[in-house]
Amino acid sequence: MKRRIILLGPPGSGKGTLGAQLKEKLAVGHVCSGHLLRQEVEKNSLFGKTAQPYIARGELVPDETVFAVMGNWLQHANLEVGFALDGFPRTVDQAKVLDGWLAERARPVELALLFTADLEETLERLAGRRSCPQCGRVYHVKRVPPRVAGRCDDCQTELVQRSDDRDSVLRQRFEVYRTKTAPLQDYYTGQGKLVVLDTSMEPERRFAAAWAALG
Ligand code: AMP
Repeated sequence: MKRRIILLGPPGSGKGTLGAQLKEKLAVGHVCSGHLLRQEVEKNSLFGKTAQPYIARGELVPDETVFAVMGNWLQHANLEVGFALDGFPRTVDQAKVLDGWLAERARPVELALLFTADLEETLERLAGRRSCPQCGRVYHVKRVPPRVAGRCDDCQTELVQRSDDRDSVLRQRFEVYRTKTAPLQDYYTGQGKLVVLDTSMEPERRFAAAWAALG
């Protein structure tokens, strides 16, 4: 079964939800680069101070900072157990660097799951999106509600709406996705690793399709 997985797709396409499901069922490490970067902002660390204005504007954080944060996570990751990477890589350059890191340990990416989504549907999803500031788990008030309204199932922390899910920043994030991240589709197709998932499917059916792709 494939265990080193990249989750690709525009904001709000369901990557975070699938990542959490893969973590639960496969025990792979699930990491969201955006969550790690937001934690650095919370800590007011040097990385956080660099990242904050880019996140606020919906632009990509400079590679140097992203590589430091993600490189640190991967260094401690057990690549046999595997990972579901959500939000990294976000450019072809980042994908090449990731491939280099993994090649050093002879444990390459095995699968890239691409979520397709149309803009209207995604805006609806993001309007209802809530996340846990503590553990990063993502919910949707209607589609993936927590067991207790407003509280994280895992750590009971109060759920929040991200400030960069506001309309103007969101449009910028979509534009960045279209111009900088979408080319990853060709990159992973070229490696024979891309599988496309239709986001309009119900979460259970989408999970079944993702599971089938793991082989
Ligand atoms: P996300 O939670 O994945 O939507 O990421 C939120 C924000 O974090 C993005 O809009 C970027 O500003 C930043 N970010 C996350 N991952 C990356 C990455 N791989 N490269 C550059 N910036 C990133």
